[in-house]
Amino acid sequence: MDCIFCKIIAGQIPSKKIYEDDLTYAFMDIDPKAPVHLLIVPRKHIASLAEADASDTALLGHMHAVAKKIGAEHNLSAGYRTVINTGPDGGQTVSHLHMHLLGGRQMHWPPG
Ligand code: C5P
Repeated sequence: MDCIFCKIIAGQIPSKKIYEDDLTYAFMDIDPKAPVHLLIVPRKHIASLAEADASDTALLGHMHAVAKKIGAEHNLSAGYRTVINTGPDGGQTVSHLHMHLLGGRQMHWPPG
């Protein structure tokens, strides 16, 4: 499968790893939109949140638990934002489910 995030997880494309466990791999975004901007990616290839099914419920919860752990470890006590872009209207550009974790500056609302 020609998936850039699958290749990053497999180590075929270099990345700046932040965290990994049996279910997820997290790395710094290559084009950061905040002082801290990383991606939490499930090892399992799921094209988008819209493609996740009931068997992925625990995995989706785990991704949030990983975000909390990383937030606590990266001096983000003032807060941070987690984002999952889904599909073209959601602004998703890589077709492998991923959660953005952004922090280190004031976030704004509504997002663009
Ligand atoms: O939510 P969306 O699909 O747009 O996010 C994809 C993200 O993956 C972008 O923030 C982009 O900078 C990042 N990316 C990366 N390394 C790559 C390709 C994309 O960090 N090799």
